[in-house]
Amino acid sequence: MKMTTYSHAVMVFALTLGWSLGWAQNVKITPLGSHAGEFCDRDRATIFEDPTGVRILYDAGQSVTGADDPRLGDVHVVLLSHAHGDHIGDRKMAALNAGTCEKPDTVSAAPNSTTAEIAAAKNAAVVMVADLGVFIGKKVEKIRGKPTGACATTGGDTVVPLVAPCLATMQLGGKQTIKHSGASRAVEITTVFASHASNVPRELLTDPEKTNLAADNMSISLGPPTGFVVKFTNGLTVYLSGDTGLHSEMKTIVHDFHKANLAFLNLGQNAMPPDAAAYAVNELAQPTTVIASHPNEWVTADGKVRPNTRTKRFIDMVKGRPVYLSLSGKTMEFDGNAKCVAGC
Ligand SMILES: [Zn+2]
Ligand SMILES: [Zn+2]
Repeated sequence: MKMTTYSHAVMVFALTLGWSLGWAQNVKITPLGSHAGEFCDRDRATIFEDPTGVRILYDAGQSVTGADDPRLGDVHVVLLSHAHGDHIGDRKMAALNAGTCEKPDTVSAAPNSTTAEIAAAKNAAVVMVADLGVFIGKKVEKIRGKPTGACATTGGDTVVPLVAPCLATMQLGGKQTIKHSGASRAVEITTVFASHASNVPRELLTDPEKTNLAADNMSISLGPPTGFVVKFTNGLTVYLSGDTGLHSEMKTIVHDFHKANLAFLNLGQNAMPPDAAAYAVNELAQPTTVIASHPNEWVTADGKVRPNTRTKRFIDMVKGRPVYLSLSGKTMEFDGNAKCVAGC
């Protein structure tokens, strides 16, 4: 009896300590941008780590050096919203911090793309719409010299870590669930609508299409562009907008149905100007918290927002909720209610 009481006390202490130190209940979000500590023009890649250990890379893009980028660590899942070069990663950083925040130095990542390089090297599940997934799967096959099969599932879940990269694709609106071995709950990833395009850079195609399409300066589309809703095991529900213009599903599907509490919003004048982005937050998606991404401008100096930026105008128009910036290498931690509890 005495021993049981003692054990119980130790357990309560450990749980309380764990809670106060942030163990096992927060989602960690770490932007991997072009310049450490800043929020820069080309920044896209972001790592999301569930409390159970599932690590997700969202839109590898051009702000990483490729599969050898030391900031990546384990990557269990690779998400890709659409095929545009700044997302699939037709180019990659020449080196970390190369060039300027306004114009980073990049080199070609053709013919593979940073997305395929990383999926192949990290034995990641390729989670995206099918048209995009099979394209990435073929590149992963060329890198590894082995076919990229569909992910095996256990009880409906893809269980990570995996021993080889695999495809966990879906159609628009579909869901994949990813569970860490040893965890009792899975991370749920659903594709949602984005109002955009998904044509692939021609440099990533092979001949004869690559040459044939050049004559008309066109390329082909790899299925519909998407956003994602990722429901983490602590309850945090993140809306990854992808590149998109305003659309009403931000209210009906993202807010009303999925009840996303954190919006990870892609900015950029050619799809989402500041006033539209503020409307998406204030009136449509209505999240508890916002993280700004994909700025398409030089946003910060010494980690602070520069005046006269579009991003500053967006922040000033958002009402009643915090907006955090994707500062490269700075890990932010969120509880299940989308409250930032560390790093913001
Ligand atoms: Zn795009
Ligand atoms: Zn983009």
